[in-house]
Amino acid sequence: MNQFRLRDHLIDGELFESIRSAALQEKEWDEDKQEEIRRFEKKVLQWMRKKRPVKKYKKLAVKKSDLKDIIELADISSLELFQGPSNFELAQIHSEWCNHCGKCCTQSSPIFIHCDEMKAITTLNPSLKDEIISNQFYPEHFQFREDQPCKFHDSQKKRCSIYDTRPQVCQNYPLMLIGSEGQEHHIINLRHDCNYATRLVLEKAMILFDEAVRRKSKGSEGFRK
Ligand code: SF4
Ligand code: SF4
Repeated sequence: MNQFRLRDHLIDGELFESIRSAALQEKEWDEDKQEEIRRFEKKVLQWMRKKRPVKKYKKLAVKKSDLKDIIELADISSLELFQGPSNFELAQIHSEWCNHCGKCCTQSSPIFIHCDEMKAITTLNPSLKDEIISNQFYPEHFQFREDQPCKFHDSQKKRCSIYDTRPQVCQNYPLMLIGSEGQEHHIINLRHDCNYATRLVLEKAMILFDEAVRRKSKGSEGFRK
């Protein structure tokens, strides 16, 4: 039998592995992205060790590797699975975690505009018509002509110069909407240099950790592989 882990009190090991592998495929994480995920998880772990020091849970034999396990789960799952808030709800109530560093506006490409929002954007701001082109990957959709940095990022003021008419993708960042129609869900763009994303995953990881500790201390058997 494989070693029993704290995460096993939350989710079956095989189910976790299948969700993670599906998430990896869905996002088409290449080697660069996987390296970025490792950096991201390392950063969240540094914070997590301060917020949930393992020595405090000595009696329950919690290890540093348990923190890593829980962070991996927080990366890919919504707290809705555990009757908690969705990624979207969590992001909405913690917008203060965005430190307005501007990296999402200066380093993202392409800046996606869904065909359904084109009319609204160009009606509200007709001058944007000349700034929008067909999307290079999804020709039925659109993107800004200039990105990396986005033409509308005001680096002096550190703000978006078309804030009220910015595309949905910008309004949602660091969340990304994925999945087929009717089954869309928000995932977090796991970028280690985005304070908003790292704090979101840290928050989820702490909630999951507390729940796993609660179940373990109550003697729940958890899920064994
Ligand atoms: S969402 Fe992240 S990358 Fe964008 S400005 Fe906020 S902290 Fe920076
Ligand atoms: S439209 Fe505004 S929010 Fe979106 S990338 Fe450009 S500057 Fe950033």
